Amino acid sequence: MPDPTTDPSFNSFLDVAPEHPFPIQNLPYGVFTPPEDSTPRVGVAIGDHVLDLAILTENDFFSEPQIQQERPFAASSLNGFMALGSPVWTTVRERVHTLLRADTAPLRDAPSLQSQVLHDRAKVTMHLPVEVGDYTDFYSSEHHARNVGTMFRSAENALQPNWKHLPVGYHGRASSIIPSGTDVRRPCGQTRPNDDEPPVYGPSQLLDFELEMGFFTGPGNPRETPIPIEETPEHIFGFCLVNDWSARDIQGWEYVPLGPFLGKSFATTISPWVVPMTALQPFRVPSPKQEPAPLPYLQQEGNWAFDVDLEVDLQTEGMTAPTTICRSNFRHMYWTVCQQLAHHTVNGCNTRPGDLLASGTLSGPTEDSYGSMLELSWRGQDPIDLPGDDTRSFLENGDRVVLRGAAKGDGYRVGFGTAEGTIRPASCA
Ligand code: MN
Repeated sequence: MPDPTTDPSFNSFLDVAPEHPFPIQNLPYGVFTPPEDSTPRVGVAIGDHVLDLAILTENDFFSEPQIQQERPFAASSLNGFMALGSPVWTTVRERVHTLLRADTAPLRDAPSLQSQVLHDRAKVTMHLPVEVGDYTDFYSSEHHARNVGTMFRSAENALQPNWKHLPVGYHGRASSIIPSGTDVRRPCGQTRPNDDEPPVYGPSQLLDFELEMGFFTGPGNPRETPIPIEETPEHIFGFCLVNDWSARDIQGWEYVPLGPFLGKSFATTISPWVVPMTALQPFRVPSPKQEPAPLPYLQQEGNWAFDVDLEVDLQTEGMTAPTTICRSNFRHMYWTVCQQLAHHTVNGCNTRPGDLLASGTLSGPTEDSYGSMLELSWRGQDPIDLPGDDTRSFLENGDRVVLRGAAKGDGYRVGFGTAEGTIRPASCA
């Protein structure tokens, strides 16, 4: 049965232009404070407004016992709502959709209720939407893995022997996940710029971004109870944009043999609006053919890649406007999000509401679709040209990086907003 909340024929009574990222088919969740009140609460973006779910709850629009008891929207994170599970997510989404529709009266014809529950999106402050307990970063774009493997080994040995058998990942740092718009200070650390000399301490010289998407889990699985792959979709709450900032010189020196550490853990930027799994259902497409066939616990029926256009804009201090340096797509994942979650839990590892699992750098097959400076400048050998005769191999102080994403439907789009940050100078003692 088609989901009414993604039906393109519905409109909101609020004006939402066709190119707008937040139409009634999207309804992403975020945590915000309105200008007149300092209490964070959960809201849904609709056009240029935010619908206040905490005030709606006070007005008895959610009579479900779990919502009445837990009050998940009067909260500074989405974790409580994520913990309630997909039947409750579906109920809330359908209720919000019905309230916002042009052909229903309860909110449309109630100006005083509107003034309580609809905020001007330009005037609210957005917060980190989730208190992330654990953050895992995968390495699931074959184009990215091949590019990096070719650079540091050779084209023949670009993929490690395990790569086509399991979704490679590492445990990232949750404490330094920051909301879009937060500046990023260039990290200090240990590098070895010259292979014939001892390592040195100082500011990273090879600072990079990584274009990624991530998903949040909920309600999660008990320890020693893996999530079978066919059940993974109902454990995925929604998606955001992720910039996995990377210091390539710190990473290159430290990573043997246990993988990324301080080259990654200084900052990870995410977008503030979490796009529900349901909103992306119309955009499911086949993922790349997997050869050899994965082991049975990773095999899955149906199409589980998502057609989401992604781009990266860069603006240096010398530029008056940003320029797009990368155009890619979320569908460039060899391993699906379902395979990532099934693999993550197959050993009995538990996940919890609000865990973040990121895709890995989403590079596509063409040179303009590479999702990092490392690849765009091919390790600095071929700097990218910017407007006004400037070039870049890696990020400089003052550079602003903006990730964007949108799934494009018939007459509407499901947008992700932006994940952005500006590089500030290092402060190394
Ligand atoms: Mn990454």
